[in-house]
Amino acid sequence: MTLFYSALFFVLGAVVGSFLNVCISRIPRGESIVSPGSQCPKCGCRIKPYDNIPILSYVRLKGRCRNCGEAIDLRYWTVEVLTALLFLIFYWRLGLSYTLPVGLLFAAIMIAVGFIDLGSKIIPNVITIPGIAVALVFSGLRGSSSLGNSILGIAVGGGGLLAVAGLGSIVFDKESVGGGDIKLAAMIGAFWGWKIVLATLLLSFLSGGIGGIVLLSTKKAVKVQGVIPFGPFIAASAILALFYGQDIVNLYLSCLSG
Ligand SMILES: [Zn+2]
Repeated sequence: MTLFYSALFFVLGAVVGSFLNVCISRIPRGESIVSPGSQCPKCGCRIKPYDNIPILSYVRLKGRCRNCGEAIDLRYWTVEVLTALLFLIFYWRLGLSYTLPVGLLFAAIMIAVGFIDLGSKIIPNVITIPGIAVALVFSGLRGSSSLGNSILGIAVGGGGLLAVAGLGSIVFDKESVGGGDIKLAAMIGAFWGWKIVLATLLLSFLSGGIGGIVLLSTKKAVKVQGVIPFGPFIAASAILALFYGQDIVNLYLSCLSG
């Protein structure tokens, strides 16, 4: 049965990933995510259902549009594979539990937000604000202590990053953390409480710092003019923190206490 469910969640992830690709392309442009159906970004032709099979179609068509032959961004395939793998991992870690659908929704949101920020340098409010509301409903259904932890998580995530943003604008005299990042951290706190979001912030500063140094030392950074989106680092850190958060917080606290 485990093999059956593993395959099921992998396929479900691939299908959700295909939908996330639509969201990633259209939400920053303010377009509908429902209609029209999938189109080639270059020639605008409708993609036939048999060419719209997640993960497989991209490989079969060698990453090109069947109509115009234009190369299709590898991002489409990457998002489908990544979502499929994350859905599989979340199933393995959480099992068929009440937390699983919450985890799957969260994984999908993290992929959407990470890739939107990577491509468009924004974290849309249409994702984070409803995300906070949905997370509060989920934790409210679990009881008052869970709801309390969510509210504390919003304070630690949003407040923590707001403090860093304030500090950054004083030290560097320019905006280092955006409002979108702050709302994203608040949403992560609303989903999983203060410990996970604290671990997320610690991991994202570490990975974002290292990533920033690496990117700035390569020529590619010249092209993006030194603007490195922080969202993908926060999103990836949140997934890691979800599985290793307790260890990270304990390690951090033990370092503080010497
Ligand atoms: Zn085309």
